[in-house]
Amino acid sequence: MKKYQHIFFDLDHTLWDFDKNTVETIREIYDIYDFSKWDFFTFHEFMEVFREVNNHLWDKYNHGFIDQMELRNSRFGIILEKLGVAAENIPQGIGKKYLELSPIKPNVLPFTHDMLAYLKPKYRLHILSNGFVDVQHTKLKASKIHEYFEVIITSDSSGFRKPQKEIFEFAMSQAGATIDNALMIGDNLDTDIIGAQNASMDHVFFNPNKVKHQLTLMHEIHSLKEIMHIL
Ligand SMILES: [Mg+2]
Repeated sequence: MKKYQHIFFDLDHTLWDFDKNTVETIREIYDIYDFSKWDFFTFHEFMEVFREVNNHLWDKYNHGFIDQMELRNSRFGIILEKLGVAAENIPQGIGKKYLELSPIKPNVLPFTHDMLAYLKPKYRLHILSNGFVDVQHTKLKASKIHEYFEVIITSDSSGFRKPQKEIFEFAMSQAGATIDNALMIGDNLDTDIIGAQNASMDHVFFNPNKVKHQLTLMHEIHSLKEIMHIL
């Protein structure tokens, strides 16, 4: 095992519990806009379509096919049209409301606080996220983990996105880290892990759902608790 000094964490789905926070946010959105009044989609259906469309848009963003504006501006139009809402009935400002409510959700994945408290005296900790600077800082504060981190790199603040090797190199240079003392931890094979491999960076794949894959990885864990055994 190398002598690591710098640990870079992905944020969404790795520390910040995106799924749980999203369910809470989408529930609020459903109630605020009183979508039950139309009687043609349930909260459950709204949630399902949100998940499908949002994942698809993020995949397109991660691979450079759309930009931040398009992701944010088109999301709820696509979702509500899929659910059968006429374009003229899509509420103004719903996308903005989502961006206001979602990042203030505090839920983190199990063992996040224990693990960060364990690592903090031994390593310098950083965030390397494909998310956007405005909301990622809010999420870190809302979930009370911002004080653990020194450097926070996002795709819009760096001009690159994972899996591009440039964002890893940029993050390491910002943190004063090198390839010999840095480790990346993330939940997404396409961005965090392929990206770390592109940059020749050591990596830990956080795979809580035990997704099957064909890649040869340095480390794979199913719970953040396991980090305390390997670091
Ligand atoms: Mg992630």
